[in-house]
Amino acid sequence: MNQEEEIQTQEAQREIAKLFVGIKNDIPIYLFAQPGENDVFSDAARQAIRFFRQITDKIVMREFDLGHKLASKWNVKDSPTIVFDPDHYNIHWLGAPLGEEGRIFLEALILIGSRESNLNEQSLQVIKKIDQPRNIKVFVSATCPYCPQQALNTLKAAVEKPDLISLEIIDIQANPELANKYSAQSVPQTYANDILIAQGAQPEELFMLSLDKMEQQTVFIPEIDEQEVETDLVIIGGGPAGLSAGIYAARSGLKSVVVEKGVLGGQVATTPVVENYPGLKQIGGKTLVDIMVTHALEYVQIFPGEEVVDIDPGDPITVHTSRRKFHTRAVLMATGATYRNLKVPGELRLSGHGVSYCSTCDGPIFKGRKAIIVGGGNSAVTEALHMHNIGVDVTLVHRRDDLKAQDVLVKNLIQNNIPILFNTEVQEIKGKHNVEEVLLYNNKTEEISTLAVNAVFIAIGYDPAVSLALKIGLELTEEGFIKHDQYRTNIPGIYSAGDVSGGYKQIVTAAGHGAEAALTIFEDTINPYWT
Ligand SMILES: Cc1cc2nc3c(=O)[nH]c(=O)nc-3n(C[C@H](O)[C@H](O)[C@H](O)COP(=O)(O)OP(=O)(O)OC[C@H]3O[C@@H](n4cnc5c(N)ncnc54)[C@H](O)[C@@H]3O)c2cc1C
Repeated sequence: MNQEEEIQTQEAQREIAKLFVGIKNDIPIYLFAQPGENDVFSDAARQAIRFFRQITDKIVMREFDLGHKLASKWNVKDSPTIVFDPDHYNIHWLGAPLGEEGRIFLEALILIGSRESNLNEQSLQVIKKIDQPRNIKVFVSATCPYCPQQALNTLKAAVEKPDLISLEIIDIQANPELANKYSAQSVPQTYANDILIAQGAQPEELFMLSLDKMEQQTVFIPEIDEQEVETDLVIIGGGPAGLSAGIYAARSGLKSVVVEKGVLGGQVATTPVVENYPGLKQIGGKTLVDIMVTHALEYVQIFPGEEVVDIDPGDPITVHTSRRKFHTRAVLMATGATYRNLKVPGELRLSGHGVSYCSTCDGPIFKGRKAIIVGGGNSAVTEALHMHNIGVDVTLVHRRDDLKAQDVLVKNLIQNNIPILFNTEVQEIKGKHNVEEVLLYNNKTEEISTLAVNAVFIAIGYDPAVSLALKIGLELTEEGFIKHDQYRTNIPGIYSAGDVSGGYKQIVTAAGHGAEAALTIFEDTINPYWT
C-alpha cells in the first residue's frame, strides 16, 4: 500500500468508526474456512473481518474448519462461511465481502451490534404478520451495485424476527454451484423457502410484502385501520373501470376510495399480453395493472383484499365491507365479470389440480407438458398463444366450427401450428388427484374419444359480477348486466361502469366508461338528478 492509499484507508476507517459509536453489544463472528477450498475467498473474508476489527473492538472473531463440531451444529457446509452472532440470529454469509458487498457486511455488523432491525413503520406492519418460518437466500456479487439494498432488506428481516427468519447471503462467485442450482445468473435474486420471491432490488416494504406473500410484489398499499370511513365516492372494483373512475373523481374534487376484493387490476391482472391499449404496443397485463394502480394511488385510497358485502342506500349511503363501513354520497359499481364454468364432471373436483381459468397464473407449471384450452374467443386464443410461447404442448378445443377471435390472433395461432379440435366438446375431466385425461365428444361425427392431458384451461367467457347488485335491488338488463342510463342505476346515488354494465368488454372501454361515470357522479353531487 503506498502512502496515499494508506491515508485514504485511515480516512475511511475514521468515517466507518463513527457508525459504530453507540453500538453496545458484542458482535460474535465465526469464520469457517477449509484449507484448500476456495482459499482466495477465505483470505478475503479474513482480511475484511480484520479491517473491521481495527475499527471496532465489538467484533469477537473465531475461526474453524468445516470439520469442527460447530460447523455441523450450525449446518455450515461451504467454505468460507461467516456465521454472525449465532446465539441471537441465524445469519450466514457464504463467501467473502468483496467490492460492493463490503457495504452489506458493514450493515450486518451494525444491525447485529445494535440488535435493532431499523425497519420503517410500514415494513414493521407487514413483517409482524409473518407467522411461519422463512429461510431466505439472497444471491449477491461483488460487482452488483443493487445488491446491498436487497441484502439489507433481508438482513433487517432476519434481525427483526430471528425466531422465524433465517438468512443466507450467498456470493455467486464464491459459490458457483449453488448459484447454478438456483439459476441465479442475475443478481440480486432472493428466495424464501426455495421459492423465488424477488428479482432485483426492492424498496424495503415491498420486500417485506413479498416475503409475507411468498411471491414478488410490485405495488405497496398501506393498510388502514379505521372501522368507519367518511368519503364522497366508494368505487367497488379495482379493475380498469374502477381505477380510472378513481383518478377522474378525485381530480374533480371528490374524495374517493377503491375497494377491491381480489386482485387489483381485475381481469387485466390475468391477461398474459395486452396489445390494444393505446400508447402501449405490447405490455404484460400485470405490468399494465401496476402502472394503473401506481397512478390511481396518487389520487385515491385503495382498500385491497376487502369485499363489499352489502350497501344501505340513503343519504349518506352505507357500504359494508368484510372489514369496515364506508359512509358515502355515491357508489360506483365497477365489479366487472367473472369466468364462466364449463359445468362438466370433474371440473370442480380438479380445480387447482390441473383445471385452471388463468393461463398467466398457472401456465408455467405445465411447461413441457400437455394442456388443452377450452374456448374459441379472444381470451381462449390469447391464452393458447401464451401457453405455446412458454413451452406448453397446447391444443385448442372449440365446440363450434370456427373461432370467434380477432383475425390477427387467429393468424398467429395458425402460424404457430397450434392444433385446434373444432366441433369438440369436453364432456368430462378425469384424474385421481390431478387431471389425467379428458373425455371429448365430436358434435359433428358424434364420436367420443379420450385425450391424455395434464391440464385443462377453461376460457369460455365471463359473466357479469352482479350478485351484489341483485342483493341491493339494482335492475338488470335482459342479458344480465346492470341496467343504467348514463351510468345512473335505478337507485339514486348508485352508478355502474365497465364490464358489469355490458357493451364492449375491453380495457380501454372499461377505463373510458369509468372516467365518464366519475364525471357524471361529480356533476350529480353538484346538481342531484333525483331531486
Ligand atoms: C384472459 C383475458 C384477456 C383479455 N385481453 C384483453 C385485451 O387484450 N385487451 C382488452 O382491451 N381487453 C382484454 N380483456 C378484457 C378486459 O380485461 C376487461 O374488459 C376489463 O378488465 C373490464 O374492466 P372492469 O374494470 O370493468 O372489470 P374487471 O377487470 O373484471 O374488474 C372488476 C373488479 O371488481 C372486483 N369486485 C367484484 N365484486 C366486488 C366486490 N363485491 N367487492 C370488491 N371488489 C369486487 C373484482 O375482484 C375485479 O377485480 C381480457 C379479459 C380476459 C379475461
